[in-house]
Amino acid sequence: MSPTPLLPIAFEEFQKAVTALGLEKFRARQVWEWLFGKLVFDFAAMTDLSVAARQKLAEAFPTILPTDFETLRGADGTTKLSLPLADGQRIEAVGLPDDEALTFCLSSQVGCPVGCAFCRTGSLGYTRNLTVEEIVLQLMLLAKILRARPTNIVFMGMGEPFLNRQAVFGAIDLFTDPKQLGLATRRITISTAGVVEGIRELAGRPGEVNLAVSLHSVDNQVRSHLVPLNKRYPLDRLRAALVEYLDRTNRRVSFEMTLLKGVNDSLADALNLVQFCEGLLCHVNLVRFNPFPGCTYKPAPEAAEKEFRKVLKKAGLPVTVRRSRGADILAACGQLAGK
Ligand code: SF4
Repeated sequence: MSPTPLLPIAFEEFQKAVTALGLEKFRARQVWEWLFGKLVFDFAAMTDLSVAARQKLAEAFPTILPTDFETLRGADGTTKLSLPLADGQRIEAVGLPDDEALTFCLSSQVGCPVGCAFCRTGSLGYTRNLTVEEIVLQLMLLAKILRARPTNIVFMGMGEPFLNRQAVFGAIDLFTDPKQLGLATRRITISTAGVVEGIRELAGRPGEVNLAVSLHSVDNQVRSHLVPLNKRYPLDRLRAALVEYLDRTNRRVSFEMTLLKGVNDSLADALNLVQFCEGLLCHVNLVRFNPFPGCTYKPAPEAAEKEFRKVLKKAGLPVTVRRSRGADILAACGQLAGK
């Protein structure tokens, strides 16, 4: 079993723990500066603390971060972290370096209850929600492994973030806290399969956290097959929530479209999408499908993807084709499994 980790606690809790050790309150701030500012995770290296203070902290918290994790490095520099949790479950998170940017893709649940037809995480079922601490832990471990702070955070790993809103919003509050990472809210994106209560709650929160919606089809029948959550939140309800969101925030929404051969990649599908997007401040990401063992779907042929894109562009819709990253280590979108 891992010794008590230090990191997965909020600053105020850590401050209390520090004073309970008989240390001055400001020591907590010093430690936080080392951890979050300098990414130093060893008390012995925190040289502005007295030797006695360092010793006391090291005794109280034998390790700052767990050590029993595994990593895989892809050919394109993508790093996948596989992390065992205290109850024996395992989750994955991904670090994606790209020029000046470093994006951390974090998980919000063990497995996922949504069960999207083209997603490896969904095919494995759902176990439980992650805690705030387990979400923060993914970030700290990736930062330690990659020796860098993230420039962006996306909740696109395992799980549906809006089915674990309390912990996801709690973690975002910590990430954006100036005493911790101090990340700008606009550097954070939540990707949802369309939980309308979550979209509404995000609209009412302060800050500029971005919203991405895994749309994949604007035909209810097709979408209910691909994203079963559509039966609970059909497209008219989803669209109404998005209109409300845009009215309140005026922040652009991203639509994720994974194009699958013969399923949602026709010109008619593209035209229907244009119609759905009419009047919405949005951007479309065409995401290359990443096959995984046991899945029968195939990615749309390149020619179909090109035509699809042309239709959107012609209609004046901003569209990007998202490069697939980390597919060789099963770290790309929809490939995480915690295995
Ligand atoms: S795509 Fe996202 S919401 Fe759908 S099953 Fe996978 S993790 Fe869950």
